Amino acid sequence: METDNKQRITDNYDRKIDYLRLSITDRCNLRCTYCMPEAGIKAKSHDSILTLEEILIFAEAAADIGLSRIRLTGGEPLVRKGVVGLIADLTAIPGIEDVSMTTNGILLEEMAKDLYAAGLRRVNISIDSLDPAVYHKLTRWGSLNQALSGLKAALAVGMTPVKINAVVLKDINDDFEPFAKLIYEYPVHVRFIEYMPAFYEKNRDKFVSGEELEAKVKAFGDVMDAESPGGAGPARYFRLRGAKGSFGIIGSSKGHFCAGCNRVRLTADGKLRTCLFSDREIDVLKILRQNNDAEEVKAIIKQAIKEKPRDRFDKREGKISRSMSQIGG
Ligand code: SAM
Ligand code: SF4
Repeated sequence: METDNKQRITDNYDRKIDYLRLSITDRCNLRCTYCMPEAGIKAKSHDSILTLEEILIFAEAAADIGLSRIRLTGGEPLVRKGVVGLIADLTAIPGIEDVSMTTNGILLEEMAKDLYAAGLRRVNISIDSLDPAVYHKLTRWGSLNQALSGLKAALAVGMTPVKINAVVLKDINDDFEPFAKLIYEYPVHVRFIEYMPAFYEKNRDKFVSGEELEAKVKAFGDVMDAESPGGAGPARYFRLRGAKGSFGIIGSSKGHFCAGCNRVRLTADGKLRTCLFSDREIDVLKILRQNNDAEEVKAIIKQAIKEKPRDRFDKREGKISRSMSQIGG
């Protein structure tokens, strides 16, 4: 790990770490079947969740050592009270160049304008199927109409790029044709995501590998490699001739994307994680509440980055103890 005057921070494998995923709540207004049980996952008490002020202190420290991009996630970030103000505060931090969000989009139609005004310029919306009945079943009670209205509102206020996340389950939502129609009609980038049973294994028999996802995209025929819209990330992108948007594939099981990993995560209950697949956590909440010392927080982030695992197979300590919604996927 090293830092230089341009506040660049790299880990022990020379990966530049500039991206912070902030989970701002462990609560959610949906219950996607690949993410959590119908009854949900017991939510943390309010006092064990970082306050908005604590999140800001952490983000300022992170920005000061070279993390320049922040993504808000959860749980469902739009159910957190004060999210609009938080975005305004985060975008105002010196050194923060980009604030984005991953959301299920259910509340986006009513909030898109305010989010944009606060500084949110791009969004990833999780929509696993364009068939209302399948969407409803996958989310347990979600309305596809509401999610699509959220998508359209994001486009209408000028957010770009707008991406869709679709976790693919065999024989449930593995027909990509409706998504192809969508990317011809709208400038959206649909990322097909390999389901990760390590976080919630109920659908293990429905697993579709990244290679299979890629083959399904290539089966459309006139398909070319494409740039990643909005900067580097874990997805590989493809363009269908004449389409306004693109397709992307995120496959994690082989660990290919680890070589380019640029991120750390802070959970809603204030635990710093440097790898989605490693249960190693640093209790930032405790440090913030004991000492509230920004220098100590910076030192902790630097140390954690130094110890970031090389890939998803490195330093594994058995089963992952938290679901994606508790980590901030
Ligand atoms: N609630 C927001 C949403 O759904 O976009 C943000 C949090 S959600 C945990 C973030 C992303 O993780 C979503 O795109 C979701 O589809 C994905 N996800 C959740 N569980 C997953 C799993 N077991 N395997 C792969 N992706 C998963
Ligand atoms: Fe909620 Fe997102 Fe998990 Fe679905 S994937 S249950 S929307 S946190």
